[in-house]
Amino acid sequence: MSVEKVLTTCVYCGTGCGLYLCVDRGKVMGIAPSRAHPVSQGRLCLKGWNAHQFVHHPQRLTDPLIKRNGTFAKASWDEALDLVAERLTEIKQRYGSDSLGVLSSAKCTNEENFVMMKFARAVLGTNNVDHCARLCHASTLTGLVKAFGSGAMTNSIAEIKDANVIFIIGSNTTEQHPVIAADILRAVDNGSKLVIIDPRVIHLSQFADMHLRLRPGTDVALMNGLMNVIIEEGLHNSSFIEERVEDFGELRSILQKYKVDDVAQITGVPVDDLRAAARLYARAEKATILYCMGITQHTTGTDNVLACANLAMLCGHVGREGTGVNPLRGHQNVQGACDMGALPNFYAGYQRVADEIARQKFEQVWRIRLPANVGLTVVEMMDAAVERKIKAMYIMGENPMVSDPNINQVKRALESLDFLVVQDIFLSETAELADVILPACSFAEKDGTFTSTERRVQRVRKAIAPIGATRPDWDIICDVARRMSYDMCYNSPEAIMEEVSTLAPIYGGIRYDRLDDFGLQWPCPTPDHPGTKYLHKNTFARGKGKFHAVDYLPPAEISDEQYPFVFTTGRIHYHFHSRTMTGRSEALNREAPEGYIEINPADAKELNIRHGGKVKVSSRRGQIITKAFVTEKVPPKTVFMPFNFGEAAANMLTNPALDPMAKIPEYKVCAIALERSD
Ligand code: SF4
Repeated sequence: MSVEKVLTTCVYCGTGCGLYLCVDRGKVMGIAPSRAHPVSQGRLCLKGWNAHQFVHHPQRLTDPLIKRNGTFAKASWDEALDLVAERLTEIKQRYGSDSLGVLSSAKCTNEENFVMMKFARAVLGTNNVDHCARLCHASTLTGLVKAFGSGAMTNSIAEIKDANVIFIIGSNTTEQHPVIAADILRAVDNGSKLVIIDPRVIHLSQFADMHLRLRPGTDVALMNGLMNVIIEEGLHNSSFIEERVEDFGELRSILQKYKVDDVAQITGVPVDDLRAAARLYARAEKATILYCMGITQHTTGTDNVLACANLAMLCGHVGREGTGVNPLRGHQNVQGACDMGALPNFYAGYQRVADEIARQKFEQVWRIRLPANVGLTVVEMMDAAVERKIKAMYIMGENPMVSDPNINQVKRALESLDFLVVQDIFLSETAELADVILPACSFAEKDGTFTSTERRVQRVRKAIAPIGATRPDWDIICDVARRMSYDMCYNSPEAIMEEVSTLAPIYGGIRYDRLDDFGLQWPCPTPDHPGTKYLHKNTFARGKGKFHAVDYLPPAEISDEQYPFVFTTGRIHYHFHSRTMTGRSEALNREAPEGYIEINPADAKELNIRHGGKVKVSSRRGQIITKAFVTEKVPPKTVFMPFNFGEAAANMLTNPALDPMAKIPEYKVCAIALERSD
């Protein structure tokens, strides 16, 4: 038996581990880690070790499907693509370009996201293009761009070990980014101080020097309280502030309101802990903040991110190796999908659609007039579909029927459309509602690039021939574009990346032949640029950094007599997002076969709920039945549910209230009621 090993990038989280697909006679038989990879260094988590298991799954979509009289029937590519092109053209002509909407995908490659956003803008004529970054880190982009001028991780993963103090805020790193969690543990072993800021007890809590268990949704108050202590005790970095940051006066003035005793009342964190954490952070030579969706998924998500940036700039903890503000991105290519402009307000490289000079640049290369108005976000598109303003959608690789907030509204939206096309590798809950399904290749069957959370652009390599009649996403989109009379032709993903590099300055030096040695980190503006390990050295991307005076606001929905519990959601180690891929892995399903809700023992006792028993969970938006997991990990009156499981979907309950700037929904806090159901 001769096994061929094809080097590629993990298809799951944003850590971007390097792995080999082991191929025997055209089949992916297993996975081997890449020892030479600069980030993963021979390590993989359980998801990574099983990343091949869905590739040959018998439920893979292998042929185009057209729904006729409520039932899907196999169709040829010509039939399916002609129908898609015909219906999209007809709806565009009848109702205008903005009656169409597109969801691109953080699961697809950079090249596919670039082609999809080009399709929306140049072919459909709308900026109504978005993807799941809206639901996880949109507030990172708005917040960090405002504060620093760039919305990405300031440092590299390898620099975590260099930090003397590590603040982890709203990130259950062991579950979401296991290999990064291993790096954190190595740092702790070598003497770094670890501070966890999270309402729940997480795996890393047991290794932490401090765990600040704040009430859900009180992050701004907590950060302002820490900064109040730092200024009061003269621990801020005056020379850094004077030289490199604007608007300190406004910040200082608002922080006066956040006396530590008041902050302790709001957050539930003891005064002494607040003082100790503030001192630890401010006195460190190098301190890094790692955060995830516990910061971003709030109606105050942008303010939460701004508060993290304020804290870092106040102490001069940014712009150096090993010290900065580091959002950990969820999907393997959510950073790249944003970089490629699969967003309603940005083209590739974060060039604004409202900026005439940027627009003209894209118009010249694409030889077509482009729309100037900012498009709709994911949640706005769903609302517009219910209002019959959006008439058709093209969804690539996303599953809003599990991942979006308030799923009943999503279902109403998708059922209200005149036409829905879904392009995916499995028949997802969303695909079931489609008029046409286009079967796509998995990561093992195509070439391209993913960009990891540390801005590292890495190769995805084709290991096997496409399964059945599947085609790469970029190839399908180009074919639809041509059938809609727009000449979109590329002979390979490499050719697409060449266009990206001419249009997006941060990718200006990215070429496939330069990516062989485990990629390059953007900004990489020229073909001879070595890439950038950490950002904002000497100067911020926006020139000076900017403090933003942000005030604490409570969550949009707080618990009351009718809905007395705070409901919060998150991810688990064994599954990825809506389980379209991990749900087809026997090994991962064995570890985590079904959903559950974590309930504090005191609450379980009061409601007579037993561990493992059935429980009914209701919010103002819906109700589900799930299994009780009684644990001290959650504080009394707070419950937690992983959102991965479609059969009892946490997002039936979540609140679609949006952050006004980033339009990210408040997944992390809503009010629910609980009752025993067995
Ligand atoms: S840590 Fe993330 S990238 Fe690495 S193997 Fe696990 S899922 Fe894949």
